[in-house]
Amino acid sequence: LAQLFRPLDMLGMVYRTIRQGLIDMAAMFKLMDTAIEVRDAPGAPALVVHRPSVVFDNVTFGYEPERTILRGLSFEVPAGNHVAIVGPSGAGKSTIARLIFRFYDPQSGRILIDGQDISTVTQASLRAALGIVPQDSVLFNDTIGYNIGYGRHGASQQEIEDAARAAALMPLIDRLPQHFDTEVGERGLKLSGGEKQRVAIARTLVKNPPILLLDEATSALDTRTEQDILATLHRVAENRTSLSIAHRLSTIAESDRIFVLNDGRLAEQGTHTELLRHDGLYAEMWARQQAENDAIEQAAE
Ligand code: ATP
Repeated sequence: LAQLFRPLDMLGMVYRTIRQGLIDMAAMFKLMDTAIEVRDAPGAPALVVHRPSVVFDNVTFGYEPERTILRGLSFEVPAGNHVAIVGPSGAGKSTIARLIFRFYDPQSGRILIDGQDISTVTQASLRAALGIVPQDSVLFNDTIGYNIGYGRHGASQQEIEDAARAAALMPLIDRLPQHFDTEVGERGLKLSGGEKQRVAIARTLVKNPPILLLDEATSALDTRTEQDILATLHRVAENRTSLSIAHRLSTIAESDRIFVLNDGRLAEQGTHTELLRHDGLYAEMWARQQAENDAIEQAAE
């Protein structure tokens, strides 16, 4: 993957931003077999973000004309809110994130960030405003410092260190023989899954985007590491707007709002408590997951 994008290096920082977005998205959504069909409108202005709200306004989208995935979807994430998107497998949760990154344009409806239709602004400025922490981050065969600083062209050593500290990477870096200058190996092989994810978090902190997309299913990690990483992610999300794509429910009870997606529509929305009281799809999913957790615990006893 890195090799595929290498020639773009010469084209400077703008392309670097796009490339970072592509690499992270590729990792998150296994996008590489997907053609990127979207172009900047001629003379498109840059996205300007003062208050990072995200709005879906009657969005209809399908990857193929004969199969609609999102059907007139509308929701609003006010600036600074933390929302979670839940729903059955295949409901279209990751599709929402792909549309926010503008890997595709909706067939109808609009997506607005801070009031600006994302199809009218440059993709470079859009992707610069978005941070993503994928489950399986792509690391380069370079030093851990380089991998963190990759979040933003020209990041200073101080910024890299601050980000490493905030992502709780310092205990690891202190242990490494050459600290920040230690090579991580091909695809970060010398690091554990949790450590790689912390590098991705630190990279996002260096980028400092106003909007975060989080993929919270940290299935590759043990429960304790997962809890630690989630705590770090939630700290990172403070002072930003965040959308979490939650494949499991246990991690999202604290969200400001939960959107329950079903069959391409918003079936329910509310806080965890409101949705449990509503006793609909969310309550059903929650009960099922609790039962599964209990069964796992009993089997372990
Ligand atoms: P999960 O929780 O299982 O990850 P999800 O809610 O995130 O599911 P999406 O990845 O958004 O689901 O997929 C929604 C639907 O779109 C699925 O039926 C999927 O098969 C289909 N889909 C996803 N990507 C493509 C693509 N590139 N081309 C065609 N169909 C696609």
